[in-house]
Amino acid sequence: MPHPVVYSTALRTRFRGLDRRDGVLLRGDAGWGEFSPFWDYDDAVSVPWLAAAREAAETGYPAALRPRVPVNVTVPAVGPERAAEIVRASGGCTTAKIKVAEPGQTLADEVERVAAVREALGPGGHVRVDANAAWDVDTAISRLAELDRAAGGLQYAEQPVAGVEDLAEVRRRSGVRIAADESVRRAEDPLRVARAGAADVLVLKVQPLGGVRACLRIAEEAGLPVVVSSALESSVGLAAGVALAAALPEHTLDGVPLAAGLATGHLLEDDVTSDPLLPAGGHLPVRPVEPDAVPAADDETRARWLARLESVAALR
Ligand SMILES: [Mg+2]
Repeated sequence: MPHPVVYSTALRTRFRGLDRRDGVLLRGDAGWGEFSPFWDYDDAVSVPWLAAAREAAETGYPAALRPRVPVNVTVPAVGPERAAEIVRASGGCTTAKIKVAEPGQTLADEVERVAAVREALGPGGHVRVDANAAWDVDTAISRLAELDRAAGGLQYAEQPVAGVEDLAEVRRRSGVRIAADESVRRAEDPLRVARAGAADVLVLKVQPLGGVRACLRIAEEAGLPVVVSSALESSVGLAAGVALAAALPEHTLDGVPLAAGLATGHLLEDDVTSDPLLPAGGHLPVRPVEPDAVPAADDETRARWLARLESVAALR
């Protein structure tokens, strides 16, 4: 394997408790792949992340069925004015995913944010919320009713609660459609959610699930609409998500094509390329990404990544 390239960048907005993002880019005969499991993941959990990077570098991606894919704008737990601003500056996205269940925030904060986003999108837009598994069942049901009202109808709620059984209960008792994210992240049993009737939509991420082809198999077996999302990667990793979204048969909910959660490139202060994957007209193009502007990691970060790459590779 040629020399791995380690990148490290600040995040513009704190996300998933992080203010920096780093990872390794691997070059193979087919192109560039990204290996960037979060630091709280151990080596065993990181094995599929490396499989995804190697697929990209060594095999490349399956054929695209479309030249570009629709993407959603992600709105962090910010105030209503900032939320509307983010939607207006999103590069034409007509679907927004809003973070909710932020510690320290009230239902009123969430209702204001959701209403501001609906207003900024206009009546033709689509609003999702993501609670990152933070609520219990009763809280989820009452909050979703309020947020559904504030949104003038939610497209779906992403992972309102943690467990698969709880997810199924919220889905049964709440009128709001449910997407499973954290519950399908582990590669061991991504189909459990589908079998349990716990979700209307599956959120699939290329790295944690072991690559584009692995995700295509999961989507086919699950038989549910799929939303491809990023793991907050650089544009090299985002290109893998775009490849997956473009290779899937079209997934719709109520006849609306589901936008992918891949418009996260702007969250990085410095991407790895001079031509990052950022939305235009609400879409990302299917194309390879050349890492020609990698923000270098310091020596310690670089050494940590190379050691991690080696120990995860040894597990395969
Ligand atoms: Mg999520």
